[in-house]
Amino acid sequence: MSFINENFLELQESYLFSTIAKKVAKYTEENPDKKVIKLGIGDVTRPIPKACIEAMHKAADEMGTLEGFKGYGPEQGYDFLRKAIVNHDYKLRGIDIAEDEIFISDGAKCDTGNIVDIFAKENVVAITDPVYPVYLDTNVMSGRSGKFNSKEGIYENIVYLPVTSENDFKPELPTQKVDMIYLCFPNNPTGTVLSKEELQKWVDYAKKNKSIILYDSAYEAFITQDDVPHSIYEIEGAKDVAIEFRSFSKTAGFTGLRCGYVVIPKSVKGYTKDGKEVGYNKLWNRRTCTKFNGASYIVQKAAEAVYSEEGQKQIKENINYYMENARIIREGLEEANIKYYGGINAPYVWLKVPDGKTSWEFFDILLQDMNVVGTPGSGFGPHGEGYFRLTAFGTRENTIEAMERIKRKGC
Ligand code: PLP
Repeated sequence: MSFINENFLELQESYLFSTIAKKVAKYTEENPDKKVIKLGIGDVTRPIPKACIEAMHKAADEMGTLEGFKGYGPEQGYDFLRKAIVNHDYKLRGIDIAEDEIFISDGAKCDTGNIVDIFAKENVVAITDPVYPVYLDTNVMSGRSGKFNSKEGIYENIVYLPVTSENDFKPELPTQKVDMIYLCFPNNPTGTVLSKEELQKWVDYAKKNKSIILYDSAYEAFITQDDVPHSIYEIEGAKDVAIEFRSFSKTAGFTGLRCGYVVIPKSVKGYTKDGKEVGYNKLWNRRTCTKFNGASYIVQKAAEAVYSEEGQKQIKENINYYMENARIIREGLEEANIKYYGGINAPYVWLKVPDGKTSWEFFDILLQDMNVVGTPGSGFGPHGEGYFRLTAFGTRENTIEAMERIKRKGC
């Protein structure tokens, strides 16, 4: 007889995107003449930059030659890409990261999910609420949560850090000791950021309590304000306590291509039960070599091309396109007298649902009266209730049309 991993039974069904899809399908079936605009799911719409496409063509041709063929590559990623990341994403910002502190992967979802492998089950986990659900669910799967309290919508043993308009979307330091802290800035779903001073508090907390910060900066490329940190390593002391996740998905349109990376400085240490220090870099390297055979050569060549002069120009064009959509959404909401947050340093706008309605009530109004689809905030955690996410990843035409409808009808 085989026994299952019963932690999986603690997982709550994620009804969010399937419920959205069902509601939209029902509405379009009943109203085939209506054009529904989707500003819900966080997938991109701009094609992959030309520089990346050219690099992939070249790499594919290379693979068809005796001299250029590549079999299994290094599990941690090719040196050419690790070098490009070190130079562009870190050195240019005055951050000293070594190539062997970078691990290339097939995306940040896998990395933020898989990282739990190298942490003891006994660690106390803190997440912001609302949150990108992967951090929570992967800790539930690996047994770090207790039972789910369906009345409150939270798990025992998980420390929830509310981020709402009441605290200006700045999570407060926990009152009890936590060991693993997930922070994501620019934030999905709220679209808000933290200043260097705010992040310094977390680094200082982590140093004092020997905790680890798991910092997801998948959206750093969307930062438009100069004083907003792009990397946790811009913060003094972070190289001793933080692991950083990055992705080419939103930056360069790789959601379908798949490439990301994780940075684990060798100075980031954890402890054995008898107090011996062990580097997480070594553990992650071991895990990677055992469970992963490396991201595809062709994809890594595409990622390298992101850092070329042409690549940088082309990704900036796409990012500017999305951020112009964000501006259109923000201005539309202002005209409609709806309070919103984010959308300045992130491709997400987080609006406060008017008239005390719930997130799902607002979803239904938007779908039925304006034929616009967004994401109910409550789907990201209990403190997301009363909020609603619109993404700037749609086409320009659809974004303008959606905001015209919202302004015309009012909410
Ligand atoms: N981290 C955050 C905060 C995200 O919002 C997403 C995707 O939406 C990811 C990670 C996943 O990125 P990837 O496509 O690299 O797996």
